[in-house]
Amino acid sequence: MENLSGKRILISGGAGFLGSHLIEKLKGCEITVIDDFSTTAVNYLPRNVKIIKEGVERFTTNEKFDIIIHMAARPSPDDYMEHPVETMLSNSIGTYNMLEIARKSDALFMYTSTSEVYGDSEIIPTPETYWGKVNPIGPRSCYDESKRFSEALCMSYYREYGLDVRIQRIFNTYGPRLRHDSSYGRVISRFIYQALKGEDLTIHGDGMQTRAFLYVDDWIDATLRMLTLKNLAGEVINIGSDKEITILELANKIINLTRSTSKIKFLPSRPDDPKRRAADISKARKLLNWEPKTSLDEGLEKTIKWFKENI
Ligand code: UDP
Repeated sequence: MENLSGKRILISGGAGFLGSHLIEKLKGCEITVIDDFSTTAVNYLPRNVKIIKEGVERFTTNEKFDIIIHMAARPSPDDYMEHPVETMLSNSIGTYNMLEIARKSDALFMYTSTSEVYGDSEIIPTPETYWGKVNPIGPRSCYDESKRFSEALCMSYYREYGLDVRIQRIFNTYGPRLRHDSSYGRVISRFIYQALKGEDLTIHGDGMQTRAFLYVDDWIDATLRMLTLKNLAGEVINIGSDKEITILELANKIINLTRSTSKIKFLPSRPDDPKRRAADISKARKLLNWEPKTSLDEGLEKTIKWFKENI
């Protein structure tokens, strides 16, 4: 693997949950973050990171970079359904702006895509070769379809300009710093917060829908491999867990691990909520020599500890 030390790296959305964790591991790099802080409540970035507070859909620069990581997006379903237009613009014009900067710099371009491109997948665990089952006009389409557009645009830059584009499809990832509040909260951070406060855990639907959860350290490990290994241009790789669990089982597990007295409250289902989701990670195993190392129990313990100390 190549050493990243001394590289000039531009990261869009770098102030978010995943970006702030990744940047801690990019020691010795010259890092610029472009982020509008629209979904970030706390700035966890180290002091030596240059921050440009701007929406990625409005950002251009003549500066040159070695690596560009395009992460800016609104990934929480409740949040993107409230801001569909903004969601689509950062995942379309934003992606175009970042690709243009990469083309002018001849930089390595890494795009953090999503398992949402598969929609309500009929094949579980889902491999990269599955084309997806997405409702193009449904309430989640603002995210799903614009992420699919971004992938297609990345591949067009790879084919037309020979840009070294690498796409990761991130499945549900969790850990310390994941927001729990209002529409930004994801299922694990919300449940941990509710359990620690003694509030009811809010399950959408009957809780029989599944997800597979990856601990943030495993995502960082995969991402560093994707940034440093050779011969990955034009590759699309699932980064996630293949260990499926129902949301009801997850809720009970979190109640047990926190020794909470909370109960479960069932709410209406979210529209177009995928029924099952898990990653087929055969390709990541083969190309990156990677697989998740942190079990769900271990990752939840670490996340619960962080929530107890920080929230
Ligand atoms: N979910 C839930 N209660 C919540 C938040 C989420 O039951 O308070 C469910 C949601 O319906 C989905 C799963 O948990 O089936 C994961 O939701 P999340 O918002 O974390 O992300 P998604 O995987 O849908 O993008």
